[in-house]
Amino acid sequence: MASYARRLPENVTGDFFVDDTCIDCDACRQIAPATFRDHGDQSSVYRQPETEEETRLALMSLVACPTGSIGTTRKHDVRKAIDAFPTRLAENIYFCGYTSESSFGAWSYLIVRPESEGGNVLVDSPRFAGPLVKRLKAMGGASLMFLTHKDDIADHDSFAKKFGCRRVMHAQDGAARYGVEQIIEGEDALRLDDDLLVIPVPGHTRGHMVLLYKNRFLFTGDHLAWSPARETLTAFRSVAWYSWPEQTRSMRKLLDYDFEWVLPGHGRIHHASADAMHTHLLNCIEWMKRTR
Ligand code: SF4
Repeated sequence: MASYARRLPENVTGDFFVDDTCIDCDACRQIAPATFRDHGDQSSVYRQPETEEETRLALMSLVACPTGSIGTTRKHDVRKAIDAFPTRLAENIYFCGYTSESSFGAWSYLIVRPESEGGNVLVDSPRFAGPLVKRLKAMGGASLMFLTHKDDIADHDSFAKKFGCRRVMHAQDGAARYGVEQIIEGEDALRLDDDLLVIPVPGHTRGHMVLLYKNRFLFTGDHLAWSPARETLTAFRSVAWYSWPEQTRSMRKLLDYDFEWVLPGHGRIHHASADAMHTHLLNCIEWMKRTR
């Protein structure tokens, strides 16, 4: 629950505000860019919502915020915002909302599939929040939980217990320690079923992996994201905890695959044609090689 007494001075006057517990995860700025901005190391309200839709998105940010840092001075009915998650991004791909502080607000996703295609897939872990769990259950639960890397596993064990889903994670990121059911070894790509391909991409962490769904949707964890500033794909040099040269090398592996969507844990989502993505990926690799 956000504290009005601790509201940041950068907020404009009015109903919505951000307090000093904000960890600068970017979720609110992605969900409600007409309301929230980055003023340095934290977010604040730069413009109060004016329309019903802007208010809805600001309330969804409040629900998604990992630290409960967003508050309002007026009372709102937040049920619609609560029920909005998981929210559809495209076709059968959803953003779970309810980000977790333990994964620094990383985004997690749900692929909705019929049982005949293997059932639903959770990509990384949201917060184990009651309303979200209820909604996920109504949407068919999860058969599989793909964990891109050790930083974004949050409440994986609670979801695994609740839905009985098989978790997939790489050995090098401590999968055995976390009790994961399917442990991936080595660097070869591995098919989980007809539509799901696991591609190990060490760099951000030693055991980082991405997941390619139907050769269209690439779930990238903290390996690859869109840069609005540079208008191309990018990687995060300052958080290459394991090895930047390894991340640059493993990025090249993705040139062998087609994808139209990049869906990261941190950083911005991007959608473009497979050809455009290929060009952006080449740009990214060249930039990585120049960046020490
Ligand atoms: S979602 Fe919350 S923690 Fe993340 S930037 Fe916004 S206010 Fe800060």
